[in-house]
Amino acid sequence: MPETQPLLDARGLVKHYPIKGGVMLKEIAAVKAVDDVSLSIQRGETLGLVGESGCGKSTFGRAILRLEEPTAGEVWFDGDNILAYEREQLRALRQKMQIIFQDPFSSLNPRKPVASIIGEPLLIHGMKSRRERDARVLELLRVVGLRQEHMRRYPHMFSGGQRQRIGVARALALNPQLVVCDEAVSALDVSIQAQVLNLLKDLQEDFGLTYLFISHDLHVVEHISDRVAVMYLGKIVEIAASETIYAQPLHPYTQALLSASPMPDPTHRRKRIILKGDVPSPINPPPGCRFHTRCPFAEAICAEKEPALREVNPGHQAACHFAGQVGL
Ligand code: SF4
Repeated sequence: MPETQPLLDARGLVKHYPIKGGVMLKEIAAVKAVDDVSLSIQRGETLGLVGESGCGKSTFGRAILRLEEPTAGEVWFDGDNILAYEREQLRALRQKMQIIFQDPFSSLNPRKPVASIIGEPLLIHGMKSRRERDARVLELLRVVGLRQEHMRRYPHMFSGGQRQRIGVARALALNPQLVVCDEAVSALDVSIQAQVLNLLKDLQEDFGLTYLFISHDLHVVEHISDRVAVMYLGKIVEIAASETIYAQPLHPYTQALLSASPMPDPTHRRKRIILKGDVPSPINPPPGCRFHTRCPFAEAICAEKEPALREVNPGHQAACHFAGQVGL
């Protein structure tokens, strides 16, 4: 994909949640959910963002949409610094950036019929005529493979896959440019996952969408992503083109994640890397390389010096002192 001005460019993004204590309720610590993350997404690209639960990937997704206010850093969208936006500008921005959540059931109002659920963003953004809204809802339902009779039904009357299609239709209602898919297929059965992933791919082609696709499962993002970024304890540890990261992961954490998830081709086997211990607390991340407490290749330097995210091969960055030298 040729390098142009990215649609989304997050620079040094930080999101800390203060923990207050003592009589004066002063900040005594902070959960460092996202810690100096720089990522850009080109127009029409799908960037997969992967890591274990609690690594900060969903917080990053919410921070770039300003659903969470970043603590520091910059977010540029379509060439504009959106952290400087005031309320009205933010409202307009909401049309261009949408999110699809993991659990379609809890993200859809159970008391409203589908026509109202999908029509709500249209109403909020000024489409007052019910007839116009219904016409647009019908168009969107057809786009996601649902039918006219579904308009008057309620969320509980649909299967999980259909509910996620409703979530997709609602996200598309305002013709967004960027869609953040936050574990969008994780709650679905494998066969339904494939259907929704195919739908998202088709919609990307038809409407020129750009996706940030967040998942804890590397294999889910494999076929939909152009590039994949791997996150650990609030930091990006590796980023590369999708086929590169699956064929030649350079960071021991990526290698461990890949070794833990079953290969789609059973004749292909990877040596299993068992990670020691649990993910450390983001309140007090380990010094040096944050992964050193669990890394099978850690040396003394790893506990002292934080490895920079650096280009090891063209287009392939990893944050490991020994990237390309260690691994399986
Ligand atoms: Fe492992 Fe050291 Fe590389 Fe961190 S820097 S991933 S601890 S080898």
